[in-house]
Amino acid sequence: MKAKDIAELMNEPACSHNAKEKSGCSKPKPGATDGGCVFDGAQIALLPIADVAHVVHGPIACSGSSWDNRGTRSTGPDLYRIGMTTDLTEQDIIMGRSEKRLFHAIRQAIETYAPPAVFVYNTCVPALTGDDFEAVCKAASAHFATPVIPIDSAGFYGSKNLGNRVAGEAMLKHVIGTRDPEPVPAEQQRPGIPVYDVNLIGEYNIAGELWHVLPLLDELGIRVLCTLSGDARFHEVQTMHAARVNMMVCSKAMINVARKLQETYGTPWFEGSFYGITDTSRALRDFARLIGDSDLQSRTEALIAREEARIRQQLEAWRPRLEGKRVLLYTGGVKSWSVVSALQDLGMNVVATGTKKSTEEDKARIRELMGDDVKMLEEGGARVLLKAVDDYRADILIAGGRNLYTALKARIPFLDINQEREFGYAGYEGMLELVRQLCLTMESPIWDAVRRPAPWDMPGQAVPQQLASA
Ligand code: SF4
Repeated sequence: MKAKDIAELMNEPACSHNAKEKSGCSKPKPGATDGGCVFDGAQIALLPIADVAHVVHGPIACSGSSWDNRGTRSTGPDLYRIGMTTDLTEQDIIMGRSEKRLFHAIRQAIETYAPPAVFVYNTCVPALTGDDFEAVCKAASAHFATPVIPIDSAGFYGSKNLGNRVAGEAMLKHVIGTRDPEPVPAEQQRPGIPVYDVNLIGEYNIAGELWHVLPLLDELGIRVLCTLSGDARFHEVQTMHAARVNMMVCSKAMINVARKLQETYGTPWFEGSFYGITDTSRALRDFARLIGDSDLQSRTEALIAREEARIRQQLEAWRPRLEGKRVLLYTGGVKSWSVVSALQDLGMNVVATGTKKSTEEDKARIRELMGDDVKMLEEGGARVLLKAVDDYRADILIAGGRNLYTALKARIPFLDINQEREFGYAGYEGMLELVRQLCLTMESPIWDAVRRPAPWDMPGQAVPQQLASA
């Protein structure tokens, strides 16, 4: 990738960081990409496209340390879960045969699985040795009559966020707009309900949570042409240009896709979230508003009224167990405010929230929800988090999986909110799962057991024989 292309991706005008400092995503300092490299970000963004063969061109470590690390689900094909790599070694580099290996890897993927497309992720080593991997992809595409999409994602280009954009850019350049959507089948058409096509960008269907939302959209006559990229198929990505409205489900990942679809095809977009009752309703309203059909707007209001009443009634039973509990939330981006709103819907008290990966807009939303005195944690780290739990007397820490052991070692109830989790929290239905998991976590008898002094530390208790002799 040329330096000017990288600079252009970093200088994303739709990103509020950029608007504030005119610096976009500034070049990372050494060590600053410990959260993931460009390759990691690109693969995370595209791997959920379920029927594609994802081939990583590089040494085994790139592929091995990132494979299947997201709890994204598919309704059908599971080719995306098969790790494919050219597994380059020193011998391949010395003998100059890495391009040949790539061609054979593409051949093997196509002959074994007959995928509708192959995605090739370039990594640091072949980028440094100067492989012309785009030429190999082009030749393979023509030879096998299958689209082979080059994703130029050498890790040293920068951070994971940049990788998300690199992935989006590859889709814009090679995939989106190469096919028109199928008409709605006659048996799925309902009299008096027109069908409107939309895209969800940055929705990864973690733990299948998108399936809580799709029936609502379906009922309103809103057809999701493509989710980029949870439970997506290659042919769906090809049709993304035909949508009436795009929703950015995560504020940073692939914001360039939403902006460029607006510039090229005039598709309006909005940023929203499906976490919490309030935000789910807001997202449905935003769809109806941007589509601009007054009948759809009134049907949306009726659906929201029905669903909110239903879910609030079911949540009532859980409310006494959660009301007033103090939460320390440490996550990033859109979740730093969308989960706040979900927890407030349950009557919980969010005492502080992490904003390390949040944009200025995210922070403004947090202030809107929690007031100007809100405590925002700019940095994480075990010591900072534990001190914050202590200072704010939090009952539970809700954070990403990497903080699990910090919390457990400090005997603090912990709930995973990031992509590795096993439970889907999106939509109205997701709130029921969230309350269930919150209660299970906070009310587990393990906390009493581990916080009690050991029997031999109790006054007047004898040290057990085994320990005394150890
Ligand atoms: S692409 Fe580069 S930085 Fe990323 S995992 Fe591979 S070698 Fe490491």
